Amino acid sequence: MSQFNIAVIPGDGIGTEVIPEGIKALEAAAAKHGVELNFTHFDWSCETYHRTGRMMPEDGLDQLKQFDSIFLGAVGFPGVPDHISLWGLLLPIRRAFNQYVNLRPVRLFEGLQSPLANKQAGDIDFYVVRENVEGEYSNIGGIQYEGTDDEVVSQQSIFTRKGTDRILKYAFDLAQSRDKKHLSSATKSNGLFHSMPYWDSRVEAMAERYPDVKVDQFHIDIFTANLVRMPEFYDVIVGSNLFGDILSDLGPACTGTIAIAPSANINPEKEFPSMFEPVHGSAPDIAGQNIANPIGTVWAAAMMMQHLGCDDMHDTIMGAIETVIRDQLALTRDMGGNASTQELGQAIADII
Ligand code: ATP
Ligand code: MG
Repeated sequence: MSQFNIAVIPGDGIGTEVIPEGIKALEAAAAKHGVELNFTHFDWSCETYHRTGRMMPEDGLDQLKQFDSIFLGAVGFPGVPDHISLWGLLLPIRRAFNQYVNLRPVRLFEGLQSPLANKQAGDIDFYVVRENVEGEYSNIGGIQYEGTDDEVVSQQSIFTRKGTDRILKYAFDLAQSRDKKHLSSATKSNGLFHSMPYWDSRVEAMAERYPDVKVDQFHIDIFTANLVRMPEFYDVIVGSNLFGDILSDLGPACTGTIAIAPSANINPEKEFPSMFEPVHGSAPDIAGQNIANPIGTVWAAAMMMQHLGCDDMHDTIMGAIETVIRDQLALTRDMGGNASTQELGQAIADII
């Protein structure tokens, strides 16, 4: 019997409401497929920060290292600046465990209405592959002449050859494994003078190794316009940390609700645990109301099991998500229903 140890960090806001629903789905699927899952909960959050001055203990990363995977809700809450919740928990985990791939699938499910006209299930079905540890999200830079009229702020981006090539390789491999074999790279080579032409040149170099993959490169501005105009064009999208981030909110928005979108922070070499979470944040505006949609978290749980080699558990969980949406069994408000977080989570677990 396979056995996995999962570190669970529900975090803040609706993170604490959706994670139990993800665990319900995992437990049901594990029982069905004879897999043993052991969950260990960590209460690391903005509340921990208020109490202790840290989002997680000093040896937090050491504690997480021994797990097979990390299952995260969301961190961040009003009263704690975003850079503290990000740099105090999320980014250190992504970086220490070399989770350099952020994989975000985007699909229009049967039963959901896209805000784009005339889109059917199947028209929207692509992956955003986002570079997750370098690029524009660096803490290099700073302020000079602070408080004077001459104040200057700089913010550096870092693109390494290794970092660029490995994310591109992951995206090309993914494209090659799919029917369309189509990779689109998001850049901005006319505005970002050094980094983006470099990225483009590495895409071209990598493309030579994948003659069967069709490749195009677009500037991020027209890219976003095209994504809304003709989402069916896209198959695998690859972008830097910033552009990947933007596209992976835009993508799910085209499928009816961002709340169903999952996000996998992957260390493809499996030297360290990977981390699975919904794309959405802690949503303070709806926290505590039991109306948050847990599907992004349940889908993230399915991706976690696929990463751990349990494709059957992944398929079972995805089948249950498809059924619950298609048959409108229990939909939360953002999907046009009036079910609670728990009712939707339970409906998924019951189908499993
Ligand atoms: P972050 O900076 O962490 O990404 P954010 O400011 O982008 O956070 P979210 O927390 O993702 O914000 O929420 C954005 C909007 O989407 C909010 O209005 C929120 O209520 C809604 N939303 C987010 N997640 C869900 C969910 N699971 N169910 C229903 N609505 C959601
Ligand atoms: Mg956001």
